[in-house]
Amino acid sequence: MDDEWWPPETDDYFLYEVLGKSCRHLTRKERYLAYLRTDIWQKKREEALIRAERMCEKCHTSRYLDVHHKNYHRVGGDELPRDLQVLCRPCHRAAHVTVDQRSAIIESLRRKDSG
Ligand SMILES: [Zn+2]
Ligand SMILES: [Zn+2]
Repeated sequence: MDDEWWPPETDDYFLYEVLGKSCRHLTRKERYLAYLRTDIWQKKREEALIRAERMCEKCHTSRYLDVHHKNYHRVGGDELPRDLQVLCRPCHRAAHVTVDQRSAIIESLRRKDSG
């Protein structure tokens, strides 16, 4: 599985093109949130919801749906269907806990290597 971390780096140049203003002064998190508000992401998000027939891909509920990035390799409008997953709020939260735990494990292994 790929290394995952949140928030992902969002390309400044891409944001400048889309939003018409520089986001360089923003934090990484703010830049990612700015991306999530763009029409480009809203379109990707809607396409993912249609593909999943507006159901959580884990538990099949149709309430409180989010579109989750399974990886962040193509953030910025180039996401492929396989990069995205429709999840309800509780399943989405669980997915991020797993990601965070994995990152923490990877980080502690790295520290052991260097120390
Ligand atoms: Zn669910
Ligand atoms: Zn997510």
